[in-house]
Amino acid sequence: MRLIAVIGALLASLSMAFEPPTPEITRSAVGDLSGLSAVLQKAFAPDDAAFEPIPAPRPNDWLAVHEEPGQTFPEFTASQPNRPSQDRHVIYLQPLGSFAPEWSPSLDKLREFAAAFFAMEVKVLPPLAIETVKFTTRRNPYTGNAQILTSDVLNFLKGRVPPDAFCVLAVTMEDLYPEPSWNFVFGQALLRERVGIYRFARYGPAFYGEPRRTGYETLLLRRSCKVLAHEAGHMFGLAHCTYFNCLMNGSNHLAESDRRPLHLCPVCLRKLQWSIGFDVLERYRALEHVNRAAGFIDEADWLNRRIKTIAGDD
Ligand SMILES: [Zn+2]
Ligand SMILES: [Zn+2]
Repeated sequence: MRLIAVIGALLASLSMAFEPPTPEITRSAVGDLSGLSAVLQKAFAPDDAAFEPIPAPRPNDWLAVHEEPGQTFPEFTASQPNRPSQDRHVIYLQPLGSFAPEWSPSLDKLREFAAAFFAMEVKVLPPLAIETVKFTTRRNPYTGNAQILTSDVLNFLKGRVPPDAFCVLAVTMEDLYPEPSWNFVFGQALLRERVGIYRFARYGPAFYGEPRRTGYETLLLRRSCKVLAHEAGHMFGLAHCTYFNCLMNGSNHLAESDRRPLHLCPVCLRKLQWSIGFDVLERYRALEHVNRAAGFIDEADWLNRRIKTIAGDD
């Protein structure tokens, strides 16, 4: 009883610790915009009408249990993150195990989304069979699900990063665990080594033995695109965002992740644009097309409004 009370008090004090950012804080997180083109100044302006505020954390949400310092644009560039270069300019997706079409997102659609999101070349490598590579596996002691040890996968990938790779992102429909004492993990990465592994197993109702509902495929693809873009964002050195409702916000569970948008706030957009150097309007146009084709209509409409705001001469 006492232990529960202590944990309850700890959670309460931690959730008290998160203060929503003031306009001054978000302005300084975006950094000095003078000297940038008019288009970039509009794209990175912390415009309250276009970007939702970060919601106050509910119990068990990420910010209720994790202290996040935030990462301003100047802090991001000072961290000297990996950037794509002429030599290393391709994002590789490495499927691990099977992607049965009945319950898996389309690898081609994931590739297309990532290519538009990062405005970079994205290639899908030939799938790896789990049995041939002999990764350590186990049956989860509670659920009985088969699981793969992530460190085995990361060690394997580390030794085979293609010379033109900015990063290699292994994706799997299998369940993962990082060490024997853990129940499961969403994914894991070695940022400097440019490799990561992420699983989509828990994003469809099939994982929980539930029947599929209408819109199931769109939902599974949306969740998978979201985790891929968020995790690849970490590969570029983007830390968790604490400024707006943003793709780079941390999330502790699926319901929280579902509340996050599929796009970046102006602070995170500026970081990614600094790293990759894309044309923001061209990127938004390509993303609008991909989002609409995938059935993410709300996101496509949001992108369309952003394009009008940024391209307009007001
Ligand atoms: Zn994250
Ligand atoms: Zn952000």
